[in-house]
Amino acid sequence: MVDFHTHSLASDGALLPAELLEQAKSAGVTCFAITDHDTLSGYQSVKDTGTAQEVGLISGVELSCRWASTTIHVVGLAFDDSSLAITSMVKSLSEARIERAKTIAHRLEKAGFAGALKGAQETAGESQIGRPHFAQWMVEMGHVTSLTQAFDKYLGAGKIGDVKTFWPSMAEVVGAIAKAGGVTVLAHPLKYKLTGMKLRALLTDFKAAGGESLEILNGRQPEADMKRLSQMADSLGFLVSAGSDFHRSFEYGPTLGVDTDRLAEGNYVWDALCQRAQEGNAAEIKPQ
Ligand code: AMP
Ligand code: MN
Ligand code: MN
Ligand code: MN
Repeated sequence: MVDFHTHSLASDGALLPAELLEQAKSAGVTCFAITDHDTLSGYQSVKDTGTAQEVGLISGVELSCRWASTTIHVVGLAFDDSSLAITSMVKSLSEARIERAKTIAHRLEKAGFAGALKGAQETAGESQIGRPHFAQWMVEMGHVTSLTQAFDKYLGAGKIGDVKTFWPSMAEVVGAIAKAGGVTVLAHPLKYKLTGMKLRALLTDFKAAGGESLEILNGRQPEADMKRLSQMADSLGFLVSAGSDFHRSFEYGPTLGVDTDRLAEGNYVWDALCQRAQEGNAAEIKPQ
């Protein structure tokens, strides 16, 4: 069991980083990454614990960026988390999230939802602020009946709370992860709802920017999608990665851990990483 895409309370997940590690351990995970949105704080708070060693924790992050007019997520794995390349990128993304939150709040307030900024900030607390915190606040206030409805009506793609202008380019975030010695993974390539032609263009640009790996399995996903993605990875020469994208437990939601027996053939990103995690120096070396 492996998992290279998970979230803790440091971003929009529900579990403390230590709780996430315990659950990963219970699920039998032996190579693991906490990939919070634009923050390393969850990973860094537990990286030196015994449980981290037991689950084979490597460094991880999910960075927000822009490609054409689309917001894209790039996962970084096994980088040196003290490298200025990554820490300065994460710092500027965190600042961008605060600026974005103000813009989202301003738009929501103009649409009649008074107190959106304070509400979302209080909901986020110490966590990296994001749209899910606005969604949660809207549910708590009774403005919507569910997180899904908040995204469908106000926060999702093309809605008033969808603000993209603040993210760096895809090439910049790929460059930052690479500079820190990490492996770059294009997260959930089918979630951007691109046409076949645009998806191909995204993968080509990702490759040209130095991108190395595609996430062929993200959470609960149809078998056919994994096959399609693994063929694309194969034809374009990408390593493959996989993760639950776990945020919290809910009915029909993904659970922690990916059974590698379920995965399509491919050059797995973890073949090299897991060995190093067990040797205790995952951040220092990357696959050739
Ligand atoms: P942000 O990174 O702040 O733009 O927020 C994006 C996050 O919102 C994703 O990582 C998901 O965790 C969550 N999300 C996106 N779409 C939905 C949705 N339709 N329903 C619930 N959560 C969503
Ligand atoms: Mn999320
Ligand atoms: Mn994502
Ligand atoms: Mn994610």
